[in-house]
Amino acid sequence: MPRRKSLLERQNQRRQPPQDVFEVAILARVKWDLHSLNNEGTIGNVTEPRTVVLWNGTKTDGVSGEMMKHIHAYWTWLQAKTKTFALCDACQVFQPQRADAASQGLNRNDNAAAMATAVERCVLCDLHGFLVQRPTIHRQSVVEFGWIVGVPEKFHRDIHVHARHAVAERGVAEAEGEASEEQTQEAERTEVAAQMVYHRPTRSGVYALVTLFQPWRIGLNEVNYTYALDPNEQRRRYQLAITAYEWTLKRPDGAMTTTRFPHIEGIEGIVLIARQPVPVPMLSPLREDYREKLEELAKKQNVEAKRFVDVDELVNILSELRQAVPFQMPFSVGTVSRRGRGRRRRAGRSSRRTTR
Ligand SMILES: [Zn+2]
Repeated sequence: MPRRKSLLERQNQRRQPPQDVFEVAILARVKWDLHSLNNEGTIGNVTEPRTVVLWNGTKTDGVSGEMMKHIHAYWTWLQAKTKTFALCDACQVFQPQRADAASQGLNRNDNAAAMATAVERCVLCDLHGFLVQRPTIHRQSVVEFGWIVGVPEKFHRDIHVHARHAVAERGVAEAEGEASEEQTQEAERTEVAAQMVYHRPTRSGVYALVTLFQPWRIGLNEVNYTYALDPNEQRRRYQLAITAYEWTLKRPDGAMTTTRFPHIEGIEGIVLIARQPVPVPMLSPLREDYREKLEELAKKQNVEAKRFVDVDELVNILSELRQAVPFQMPFSVGTVSRRGRGRRRRAGRSSRRTTR
């Protein structure tokens, strides 16, 4: 059990400047039971679960990184809406195209200025990336997820048959007794549509999870390598992303949660934190010894490694991380941003004119 900090230690901690964070990786095994969070699709009345193949041909169960990233984006959006963060017109209503669906106000003749505007005006575009077609600018997400993949021999899948009954229509039709032949046929057709048998997968397992977060890239304009945000706004967005991580891992979401909400049994793993510009090592939790190996690698690279064996311990690590600040590369801040802001204001006026 961790030792409680003395009053003096807590005061000293408060006096110390917050620590920098360059990169964070969470490598973990999650134990989820009886879910169907992600599927290949439905053919007829049969829904197929996701199957992924590992290097040696082993087929296993999976939940896509797209699904996890979507959940992180959703929790980011929810916080942004309630904490007065800037969002572009598309992200205000959580449109998946992000900046591409709100390209008004982006300078079509200056990619650096367009990127600065897109990054500055929207926390979701900044953290989760976008691809704008005109002008052609691409921002890679600051938050990355891999497949959540079933550890071989530690997952199970089943297909269950369900039936939707529609007894009421038949009862009503028979009770009326005066229906014409046509009406009876119509009622029968309705009954077939309402009453059906369907097959749905249910899965349980221990899954390997990998995710990488790059706080040093928050607000970074990667067209001309300047920061489009001041350090205060970078820090606010960093804190938002960390909280979204916490919520994503505490409350995974996905398909079929209305009837197959996952039974979340636990999570255990390791958080790697690079305070200086060195990439954190990434070893898959598909390996049994991933934590030992990562600790060794981390030590060699001067990267912090923090183990956790349950959700609450992970939440504690993330709460501590939230007190830190994003690492700042020695790039200039804000020059393009100011130009972008000016253009945005002008563009805003013109778009208001066109909507009248
Ligand atoms: Zn946006």
